[in-house]
Amino acid sequence: MLTVLTPHEALSLIKEKIAPLPRMEEVSLGHASGRVLGKDIKATEYVPGFDRSTVDGYALKASDSFGCSEAIPALLMKTAAVAMGESADFTLSEGCCAYVPTGGALPKGADAVAMIEYCEDFGCGEIGLSKAVAPGENIIFKGDDVYPGKLIMKKGRRLQSRDIGSLAAMGVVALNVARRPIVGIISTGDELVAPTEVPKDGQVRDINSPMLEALVQEFGAESRLYGIVRDEEALLAEVLDKALAECDCVLISGGSSVGTKDATGRIIESRGEMLFHGIAMKPGKPTIMGMAKGKPIFGLPGHPGAAWFVSRIFVRCAIEKLMGRESAPITLPAILTESVSANHGRAQYGGVSLFMKDGAWQASPIRSKSGLISSLCAADGFFCIPRDKEGCAAGETVEVTLYSTYQEI
Ligand code: AMP
Ligand code: MG
Repeated sequence: MLTVLTPHEALSLIKEKIAPLPRMEEVSLGHASGRVLGKDIKATEYVPGFDRSTVDGYALKASDSFGCSEAIPALLMKTAAVAMGESADFTLSEGCCAYVPTGGALPKGADAVAMIEYCEDFGCGEIGLSKAVAPGENIIFKGDDVYPGKLIMKKGRRLQSRDIGSLAAMGVVALNVARRPIVGIISTGDELVAPTEVPKDGQVRDINSPMLEALVQEFGAESRLYGIVRDEEALLAEVLDKALAECDCVLISGGSSVGTKDATGRIIESRGEMLFHGIAMKPGKPTIMGMAKGKPIFGLPGHPGAAWFVSRIFVRCAIEKLMGRESAPITLPAILTESVSANHGRAQYGGVSLFMKDGAWQASPIRSKSGLISSLCAADGFFCIPRDKEGCAAGETVEVTLYSTYQEI
């Protein structure tokens, strides 16, 4: 029996059914970028570890500067200079100041730093200050950034370069991350030849294996290719069993419709539980998902454009769940430049290219026949026409989900 779900229902089921992989691994900070945090990170230290100046200037008691101006500068005795990387182990007295470089330690007794731009060195050990400072001005205090016990990052976060910086500041040099799920990839179809071969009439190159391999790597998983399998049920069953034994998740592209040659659905069902057979969306209707031995198996449409699109939404969600993580895509509102029709009772997704005009993003629909792959690269993102809507008119504002945070120019 076919169980067709809406995209939202399919995503909810994936989130409900997939549990994070139990084992974590420890990596060094240098190998942590792109990995998913396995545990919350709480600070064990103060950052900064001492009161620091944020400018080049003179540390002083703010009250000594009150009322000064260009016409009547405050006169302060320069009694010391703090060197970078050294502690300031002296106490500043009233009427005195000490030179401090940016990031240098603040001496005891000082409660502000005057910027060097407002200070004149009179040469005789005296500094003239022409602008008053408030207590705390130009200082970051010990623990302003981070203090022991503060929650810094939550488990499930996919680490980026800026996170690596914060971790380095706290001396975290090794951390627990989710294991990269191993994703097996199988292409099916009598017409397929390896990308290295020259296809004869009627044959096409296997696009999905290398494309899905690249995609799952983008999601943070490891890929394992199982090659091209002919449209024969017994052959596919054999390869699927091998992949299921070796991987945490398996993707089978092609043969996911209900034609007599389409074996993917039958085999997934015979190996475990079928969660859905069909999603009410275009492209991507013939998408199947099942679970066997606690591992998700996807049957993806053969059309590369559709396979990529549904994988980006559903396989991504599954892989993230395996790593103990959930995320939402970034969208932006854009004005549709041409009308797009839809009337088939399924959520319809359409690629758009984005450009800026009069200070607003414009979304130009990519027109493409089903099965063409050039439209994949032309789009910067996509928008959705809900199943109960007959289309979107030119000039309408649509919410565009971005494929990447960078805009090709
Ligand atoms: P199917 O889902 O098996 O009915 O295939 C639908 C269409 O996608 C057919 O035109 C196939 O030739 C094509 N197709 C299936 N798998 C691949 C693949 N791995 N690479 C390129 N095209 C494919
Ligand atoms: Mg096929």
